[in-house]
Amino acid sequence: MSRFLSKKYEKLVPYAPGEQPKIQGLIKLNTNESPFPPSPKVMEVINVDEINRLNLYPDPEATVLVKAISKHYNISESKIAVGNGSDELLAFSFMAFQNESRIISFPDISYGFYKVYAEIYGAKANLIPLNTNLEIEPKDYFNAPGTIVIANPNPPAGTALLRVDIEEILKANKDNLVIIDEAYVNFGAQTSVPLIEQYDNLLVIQTFSKDRNLAGARIGTAFGQEDIISDLNKMKFSFNPYNLNRLSILVGAAAIADDKYFEDCIEKIKEVRQEFVAEMKTLGFDVMNSYANFVLAKHDKLSGAEYYKELRSRKILVRHLENERIKDYVRITIGTKEQMDELINATKQIV
Ligand SMILES: *Cc1c(COP(=O)(O)O)cnc(C)c1O
Repeated sequence: MSRFLSKKYEKLVPYAPGEQPKIQGLIKLNTNESPFPPSPKVMEVINVDEINRLNLYPDPEATVLVKAISKHYNISESKIAVGNGSDELLAFSFMAFQNESRIISFPDISYGFYKVYAEIYGAKANLIPLNTNLEIEPKDYFNAPGTIVIANPNPPAGTALLRVDIEEILKANKDNLVIIDEAYVNFGAQTSVPLIEQYDNLLVIQTFSKDRNLAGARIGTAFGQEDIISDLNKMKFSFNPYNLNRLSILVGAAAIADDKYFEDCIEKIKEVRQEFVAEMKTLGFDVMNSYANFVLAKHDKLSGAEYYKELRSRKILVRHLENERIKDYVRITIGTKEQMDELINATKQIV
């Protein structure tokens, strides 16, 4: 720490991203990326001409991308904001949407970034414990004191709420903004996007990183009523108007227009998830029922830390989280069938 750092950031603990090691032949199942390349349509929009235009600033409105998202969801462009990954949209939301209480409520075990954003933007984090099955109890969020953030599905267990549950939370918190982070929604949960027309206290955030195979392009989307979206854009234009680069705008627009490829990839992930979970169970693992592209798994004769280490020594990387309530588990991203078969083979040796 230099002597120049603001006092208020002295205790800030940054988000710890999953490792991105450069080990040859590594099977990487630790950060919930897609194992598949982006849609082939993406290749068609990146060319020498576009690269030659990198001397120019991008369109601050990201019009091409917003139009493509609007067409795909049949939602007005004025109800859509885009960000440099959904992380940036979450950051803008934590910055913008705090009521007088400055409290932001979210589950005690969820996406690690929420705590960091609460800290950096001076909000008090109100951690609401998951139940003993590591699920979110909707009633715990009724009449919450401030803004509410819920990931649906919720990592790292991958449990999901139904749209009716989200509606109950919206109805019980008419004067609080409810932010639903749908990073994994397309792997099997119900989206709340259609509810934005009816509820003026809902903001839904999605990403192209997981189900559109574009983690490297950094594209996130927010859906909400016009006034909420315009508040988010106020943050963006006060922070970084050019938050999406020229290439990402084109790539995102091409990817969202390719429904067939998107659906095929999702279908494959779901199939592999089902087979993988069944095989892990025959090996004696307790595997949480996940609606996302990852699963939490534990074995009663093997600690989470040991299993992680044994897999790593066989060049398979999964995520072990230190949190007391889930330290017996590892979180495994669903990759290709071949990758999961290798993990199963390695696991047979380990157990
Ligand atoms: C991966 C993830 C994000 C971040 O996505 P980016 O769009 O890549 O910034 C946000 N929320 C949750 C719950 C995630 O798992």
